[in-house]
Amino acid sequence: MKLSQVFWQTIKEDPSDAEISSHKLLIRAGLISKSAAGIYNYLPFATKVIRKIEGIIREELENIQSQEIVMSVMTPGDLWKETGRWDKMTGEMLKVQDKSGRDLCFSPTNEEAVVDIFRKFVTSYKALPVSLFQINTKFRDEIRPRFGLMRGREFSMKDAYSFHANMQCLDETYLKFYQAYSNIFQRMGLEFIIVEADGGAIAGGDKKTHEFQVLAKTGEDRVVLSREAGYAANIEKATTERAKLNFAPVSDLKSVATPNKKTIEEVCTFLNIPQYQSIKCLVYTAIYGLKEANYLIMLLGDDELNELKLKNLLNADHIRPATSDVLHKFGLVAGFIGPISELGTTRVLVDQAISIDNSFIVGANKADEHLSGFCVKRDLKKYETVDLRLSKKDDVVKGTKAKVEIVGGIEVGHIFQLGDNYTKSMKATVLDQNGKAQFPLMGCYGIGVTRTMQAAIEQNHDEFGIKWPMAIAPFHVHLVEIGKSEEFKVQANKIYSELKSHGIEVLFDDRNQGPGFKLKDAELLGLPIIVTLGERDMQATGEVDLKIRKTMQSQKIKLNDLLPRIKQIMSEQLK
Ligand code: ATP
Ligand code: MG
Repeated sequence: MKLSQVFWQTIKEDPSDAEISSHKLLIRAGLISKSAAGIYNYLPFATKVIRKIEGIIREELENIQSQEIVMSVMTPGDLWKETGRWDKMTGEMLKVQDKSGRDLCFSPTNEEAVVDIFRKFVTSYKALPVSLFQINTKFRDEIRPRFGLMRGREFSMKDAYSFHANMQCLDETYLKFYQAYSNIFQRMGLEFIIVEADGGAIAGGDKKTHEFQVLAKTGEDRVVLSREAGYAANIEKATTERAKLNFAPVSDLKSVATPNKKTIEEVCTFLNIPQYQSIKCLVYTAIYGLKEANYLIMLLGDDELNELKLKNLLNADHIRPATSDVLHKFGLVAGFIGPISELGTTRVLVDQAISIDNSFIVGANKADEHLSGFCVKRDLKKYETVDLRLSKKDDVVKGTKAKVEIVGGIEVGHIFQLGDNYTKSMKATVLDQNGKAQFPLMGCYGIGVTRTMQAAIEQNHDEFGIKWPMAIAPFHVHLVEIGKSEEFKVQANKIYSELKSHGIEVLFDDRNQGPGFKLKDAELLGLPIIVTLGERDMQATGEVDLKIRKTMQSQKIKLNDLLPRIKQIMSEQLK
């Protein structure tokens, strides 16, 4: 394409609402334009990238016998009511009523819709497995849309769904998607890891699920990683352990004055003990529909609660820290909360990092007082030992000495085993070998298409602009002509046509602009190869300048060597 004839404009200033580089670059490189909060228009060059990402996904999924469909974006409320998600997913769903007062929603995901298609057609186990995918627009009314396309409200997702007669078949397909996803992100040239994840609202907390995380400091997700032990898990799910700690030997229970010392840090500094020799007591309220129950949680003083683990453990709709009214009702004093055995529904949850045979400092349930020598086994009548702590740096992988680090990740893909939750609630049955009705098992598999495009930029950029991986770059080569004579322009045009005729995608900067302006734009847009045709050089030595955007390495080469060199770089980068 010739730049003099296309719609493309870069922007000098960073957008005021952009916090991370990839968001700034998407706007500044003229790739997207904002329509409303979390809603964007994809401009021509971004559309090319999106089509390439879609192309890679399509190829890999067709390779594993998944078939492409396109489901309606608006889905009837009645389907969502069958599974109960019409009321459950209130936060994210954009609901509307049509002229005749019928409920509809703009799909945030499509489990219900795909089960409806399935049950209309498939009646026998013989037709299984079935694997369908689509690439379509989704809408989620995210509470905090931010970071451009990373957490948009309207975005493009590839979502796939599979149906199976038995667990073995689901496991096989799950593995195929796992492998296909690895191929997809590898082909896109992204550095990613696969982590164990939490099933969340779609699958339920205990189902098998993995996330594909692109590594990036600014990623919203925290990944707990030990390359040494081959361990990677989303922090929400991670079950690492504390490295060995020197707990205090058991001693008598005694009260200690701790005037005005409320935080663990203040108390432990005051008593001159490490924070892990104290216990942090928290009271949480779990909400089950209209009912509520309160729980006392005990953690090592310097550990934090993993709220998702607690919510899953309690099987609650929501959880939240107890309000001051609740604390007051149980006679607890904020900052000095300690173990008490009767707390409404009375479950005392002791994190397993706490050694139940050793002594700890705990709150005394009185202002300005703590207890020393508290021993869980000796001093608590009833408790449960559970895993509730949030993993942190320098933890070790269970049963090993391998330390973990916490790295930032961008979740670009997510695969789940759903089981029969959806087929059951929507009464989708097939007849098995014995003619008996059974509920097929399901898997579901998502990739954020537009988020992936931005993740590629977040992982591949520098202070000058984007560094597109070859496989998803809007074009392969940015050809810049710098010269004025008619003769030179004819020659430049010829080079452009010649490269194109060899299947190379070339963006030809034939605009009447100065070299500085053109080269800045080229670096900002970040096509993998930048070739500069300088009139003077070409006349003097017959050479052109070739720069690899990724490394910023430049070399002068003879015009005759240009095509083979470009082909060589392309094949190296597409490996
Ligand atoms: P997140 O944890 O980031 O909110 P999710 O777990 O809700 O995502 P899934 O339901 O697993 O997302 O959706 C599949 C994929 O769709 C995600 O892996 C992600 O790449 C993409 N995605 C989800 N929400 C958004 C969003 N708001 N903007 C852009 N892409 C998204
Ligand atoms: Mg997810």
